[in-house]
Amino acid sequence: METVLVDDVLHRFLLEGAGVRGVLVRLGPAWREVAGRSDYPAPLRALLGEALAASALLTGNIKFEGALSIELKSAGAPHLLFAESTDQGRLRGLARWHDEVADPLRLDALAQAVMAITIGHAERGQRYQGLVELQHADLAGALENYFRQSEQLPAKIVLAADGEHAAGLILQKLPGEGGHDAVEDDADAWTRIEHLTATLGAAELLATPPEQLLYRLYHEESVRLFEPRPLAFGCSCSRERVEAMLRSLGRDEVEAALAARDGEIEVICEFCAQRYTFDRIDAEHLLGGGGAAAPTVQ
Ligand SMILES: [Zn+2]
Repeated sequence: METVLVDDVLHRFLLEGAGVRGVLVRLGPAWREVAGRSDYPAPLRALLGEALAASALLTGNIKFEGALSIELKSAGAPHLLFAESTDQGRLRGLARWHDEVADPLRLDALAQAVMAITIGHAERGQRYQGLVELQHADLAGALENYFRQSEQLPAKIVLAADGEHAAGLILQKLPGEGGHDAVEDDADAWTRIEHLTATLGAAELLATPPEQLLYRLYHEESVRLFEPRPLAFGCSCSRERVEAMLRSLGRDEVEAALAARDGEIEVICEFCAQRYTFDRIDAEHLLGGGGAAAPTVQ
C-alpha cells in the first residue's frame, strides 16, 4: 500500500503548460513541536508558523548546503523571530517578545524592524544573506516583493498557520527561454495561475492534504508532481556548540556563572529544550582549549 504523506512534507511541482514551477509545504507535528515550546500569543504564533513554512518553501527550488533561515528583529514585539530549515529537511524556530503583541501583527507597522534571509553554513562562513523589505503587512507579501526584486521574476506566495498546521505555497514563473511552442503566451498563463491561486484561502490551505489541494486548484493545468520530501522538527545544537559559545564568553563570565549556581553551568537549548551541564572541571577544560587535564580547582 502506498503511503501518502499529508503532514511534514514538501512537494515540488510543475504546471508544465503554463511554464510555472511551485512548491507546497504542509507542516503538522514539526510545527506543533515548535509552537508548543512557548506560550505564544495567537498573532505571533501565526507569524512564526508562516515563517517556518516559508523557510521550508524557499528550500524547495534551490541547491544549498547547511540551513536557510528567516530572521526578524525589531525594537518592539516581537523582539526576535527565527525560523530555519536545513538541507536535510530539519526545521526549528522560535520567537521572543517582551511587550504586548499587536493584533493584527503587521510587519509594516513594526518599529526598527529588519528581516533577513540567510543561506549556508554559519560556522564555515559560507553564507548568502539578503534583506527583505517590510513594506507589506504580511509575510507572503514581503516575500513576493523580495522575489520580484532579487530574481526579477514574479512569485505568488500563500502562507497560513494555526495551532495545528502551518502551510505555504509558492508559484514562480519559469524564466522564458523562447522557442518552446508548448508554452502559451507567458503573461496570460501567469495571470491565469495567479487567479487560480488567489481563490485559495488560509483555511483551505491548512485543511487540505497537499496532493488533493494541487489537484483542486490546478486540475485544468497539467500538474507534474515530483517525489515528495519528508520534513521533521530537528535541532542542530550540540555540546560542542555550547562549549564554543561558553568559550566566546570568556573566563570571567564562565567563572561568574559557575559561582552563581553552585559550581555548575546549565545551558538549555531554546529550540529543543536539550539540557547541557558543565561543572568546574568541564569549564576549566574548555577554557584551557582542551589541553592537559585541568588541575583540581579549589
Ligand atoms: Zn537544540
